[in-house]
Amino acid sequence: MSEKMQQQITQAEQDLLHTYNRFPVVFDHAEGMSLYDTDGKRYLDFFSGIGVFALGHGSTRYKNAVKAQVDKLLHTSNYFYNEPAIDAARKLKAISGMDRVFFTNSGAEAVEGALKAARKYAYLRDGVADHEIIAMEGSFHGRTMGALSVTGTKKYRDPFEPLIGGVRFAKYNDIESVKALLTDKTCAIIMETVQGEGGIHPADPAFIKEIRRICDEKDILLILDEIQCGMGRTGTMYAWQGYDVRPDIMTTAKALGCGVPVGAFLLQGKAADRSLAAGDHGTTYGGNPLACAAISEVLSIYEEEKILDHVNMIAPYLTELLDTLAEKRDDIKERRGIGLMQGLEFTHPVGDILNRALDKGLVLINAGANVLRFLPPLVIGRSEVDEMMDILKASLD
Ligand SMILES: *Cc1c(COP(=O)(O)O)cnc(C)c1O
Repeated sequence: MSEKMQQQITQAEQDLLHTYNRFPVVFDHAEGMSLYDTDGKRYLDFFSGIGVFALGHGSTRYKNAVKAQVDKLLHTSNYFYNEPAIDAARKLKAISGMDRVFFTNSGAEAVEGALKAARKYAYLRDGVADHEIIAMEGSFHGRTMGALSVTGTKKYRDPFEPLIGGVRFAKYNDIESVKALLTDKTCAIIMETVQGEGGIHPADPAFIKEIRRICDEKDILLILDEIQCGMGRTGTMYAWQGYDVRPDIMTTAKALGCGVPVGAFLLQGKAADRSLAAGDHGTTYGGNPLACAAISEVLSIYEEEKILDHVNMIAPYLTELLDTLAEKRDDIKERRGIGLMQGLEFTHPVGDILNRALDKGLVLINAGANVLRFLPPLVIGRSEVDEMMDILKASLD
């Protein structure tokens, strides 16, 4: 590492609040599937900034759309309409089949809105508040107080209690544990269709279908968090579309903006008709023209460049190579995942593997201590998969 980069890192450690143990790299620019640090060293990006850069770093079309909007109109507030938001909402409804969109600035903020919508729905239904929410162990929904309240990692929550009340945690993929928590006050069940931070755990089809059935029977809203697993990563636009169930409320963010900070929650049917109304919820920046120009262009590119077809073509190649590796090595317990959202669970922590890979020019990340997580840009080719596998193998021992 150059002296300049070392100095920049030292400076950052003095100035930034230390909420992350960062890898010792200062990134400078990117092109296609590659990141470059301030010393000019190249890294293959198999993380996409936590699954954000679905289109890679090199989409000229995307960059031009964002640049054009900077020159045209950056912000109006939600007291007025703007064209990019109108376009983005129409396209988002078309790909999801949901009825209403609320744009936010981040994933956590989308989760906050989803929780408020669920509580408001139950409040209108029962005429009283004080409802309960069932969330899942091992889940991750964000770091703000509401999203944290439904996040299934106790150590993330404990220092910040009391969080929002009435949240109970069931075991993911264990339907009896969900049934045991149901009460007359339950207003929502929130879960990720594929758990990301918790270690790449897809929902069992029977589990999610039974949850949907229970929600219908008891007039409970199903909230699916698609912030990490959505936007084509699993081979369908939203992961739930591959399960043949539909949420009442869903959240989306990360790849939705492909680099511009955005999020959204969407509502369907009764949740759209009878929940948040004028005065119940708001945001200054959410749905602003810049953010929505990005979303709108991202969704057009997905359609015109057939991103889902590409995911479904390339993902089997990645999973085949990961399966072969898992079979060969005693220290790999299993491969899990759908599409280009994959995890390899080891019998030991993977931190050293990550550091060695980074040193060799590969950006990978973990999901929990023992799981390597693969979230490449959705536009990767076979040669990048091969390059990743070569560096990964060289980094294992
Ligand atoms: C990242 C993530 C969030 C939080 O999104 P932010 O944009 O970081 O607030 C929520 N849910 C899931 C499943 C995530 O992966």
